[in-house]
Amino acid sequence: MTIKEILEAHVVEVGRNVFTREEWLRCKCGWIGARVLSEGFDWEPVKRDHVAEVLEKHMQEREAQLRQLVRDMTDPGACWFDHHGGCQEHGYLDLKPGELCPHTEAKQLLGDEPNGR
Ligand SMILES: [Zn+2]
Ligand SMILES: [Zn+2]
Repeated sequence: MTIKEILEAHVVEVGRNVFTREEWLRCKCGWIGARVLSEGFDWEPVKRDHVAEVLEKHMQEREAQLRQLVRDMTDPGACWFDHHGGCQEHGYLDLKPGELCPHTEAKQLLGDEPNGR
């Protein structure tokens, strides 16, 4: 799901009952916000919180998925560098100075090997 699709699926609108002076917030997804009777209540932060929560959850799910994939694809073995600076262990022989072997980079990303090499 793209961010645009998420935003389109979470259109939040304020509903009003002029007789009971009741207000409520309803999202396209079915979520309903807190109802209040007070005049001039600012719904904007509540709207934002709902959409932010949905996006946060989406990002966390994607990150968990990607981290798992990177973990599965990363070789647990240490890099072994030849005198040209290439990693013989993982077959990255054309590394430029300062470039890391993707396996080391992946481990750093996952936090398993904070100092690399
Ligand atoms: Zn929603
Ligand atoms: Zn390597």
